[in-house]
This record gives sequence, C-alpha cells and structure tokens, in this order.
Amino acid sequence: MRVAIVTVGDELLVGDTVNTNAAWLGRQLAERGVDVERSTTVPDRVDDIAGVVDEYRDRYDAVLVTGGLGPTHDDMTMDAVGTAFGVPVEENEAALAWLAENGYARGDLAAGTADIPAGAEPLHNEAGVAPGCIIGNVYVLPGVPAEMEAMFESVGDRFVGSETHVTAVRVDEPESALIERFERLRERFDVQVGSYPGEHVRVKIQGDEERVVQEAAAWLRDRVETVEE
Ligand code: ATP
Ligand code: MG
Repeated sequence: MRVAIVTVGDELLVGDTVNTNAAWLGRQLAERGVDVERSTTVPDRVDDIAGVVDEYRDRYDAVLVTGGLGPTHDDMTMDAVGTAFGVPVEENEAALAWLAENGYARGDLAAGTADIPAGAEPLHNEAGVAPGCIIGNVYVLPGVPAEMEAMFESVGDRFVGSETHVTAVRVDEPESALIERFERLRERFDVQVGSYPGEHVRVKIQGDEERVVQEAAAWLRDRVETVEE
C-alpha cells in the first residue's frame, strides 16, 4: 500500500508550528508496513490543497490530509477536498447527530462545523468538535495533534502493508568510506539500506524477511568498525 500525507497550514511553512503530524503519521504508517511515498505541506489556500489532493488520490492508494478543519475563516480543507472531487460541501446529518449525542446541540455550533464534501463519510472527532471525513481514498483529519491521532486510530486498521523487518547497525567510520560496502550489501541481500550520519553512522536495514535482514546485518557487522555498545 502506497500512501501520501498532505499537511495543511501557513504556520507549518514558516516554522511557527513544527510539523509533528507528518512525522507521527509517517511513523504509524511505516510501522504498519505501508510505503509512505510523499509528504507535502501546503498553505491554507483552496487551489493549492485541491491541486495536491487531486493529483495524489490518483497516484497513491490513499491520501491522508491534516489541518484546516472547522468553521474558522482560515479553515478551507473541506472546501478544497470537495473541489478536488467536484462536489460541494454540505452539512452532514450523521455528524450533527453524533455531536448532539456528545453534548453539542445544533444551535450551539458555529455555522459550517459539520460541513463535509457531499457523499463523504464523516469521522467523529473524539478529542474535539469538527468532524473529519473519508471520501474515495482520501482521509481528512484535524490539525490539532491529539484530535488527529485519535481520528487516525479510528481508521488505522485500513492501513495495512506488507510485513516488514528492521534492524540497525551503528558504525564508527565516516559515511563516505562505506559506499562500496553498502553496494555489496545491496547486491547480496534483498534489503533496503538507509544510512544516517550523526555522532556515528546509523545504518538501517529493512526487508520483508526477518532472516534476510539479520543475515544482512551480520554480514555488515563483520565488515565495519561497529560502535561499542
Ligand atoms: P480546529 O478545528 O481546532 O480549528 P483544525 O483541524 O482546523 O483544528 P488547524 O486550524 O489547521 O487545525 O490547526 C490547529 C492547531 O493544530 C495549530 O495551531 C497547530 O498548533 C496544530 N497543528 C496543525 N497542523 C499541525 C501539524 N501538521 N503538526 C503539528 N501541529 C499542527
Ligand atoms: Mg482550525
């Protein structure tokens, strides 16, 4: 399963808010064995949001969008997702009924709170108010991290990928010195190899089969200066 993440918000682009939602979702999806193929941040502008949603819904199995829900002036994600699908947004009766059951009478809600694209399935906001939704293969989630996380968990079962195994080898050599050994590792074993320099080089080895991942790690450990644990 190949998935794209779209995070919406001017404040993310200028660094006023650190984009923890993209990181959290990426990790959740990767842990489920899903391939995260894109993570894109767009401003609070209908045409920008609609453009990437429309492109990604064709290219990927699913698209996760976070941020810009609710009736405030700068919240335009639902309008934009409606635009991408060529449908208007409309008040959703099931979302209103759920809100009423949870103590939000219709008259107390700001106009537009329960608006989602026509034909979408509402996702209830266990940790907040404004609903998210599913339309086609697009999942629209809130921006507030606690709300986004609770809502993602309510649909998390739909995100399944192939089983994957990961291990890490910490190497005490400059990354540039390792290129040729990485090439041989990739030739020999059916694994993906990532290398992340810091104080030491952390080599991440990932693959579909546990045995192959462990053999690849052992092969590498025999050929590099590993960090003493
Ligand atoms: P609300 O319904 O409360 O308006 P929302 O879904 O519209 O929520 P936003 O208005 O986009 O969400 O963002 C609300 C707050 O959530 C932001 O001020 C920010 O603090 C946080 N937030 C939004 N997007 C992200 C993100 N990608 N990573 C981390 N925090 C975020
Ligand atoms: Mg908002």
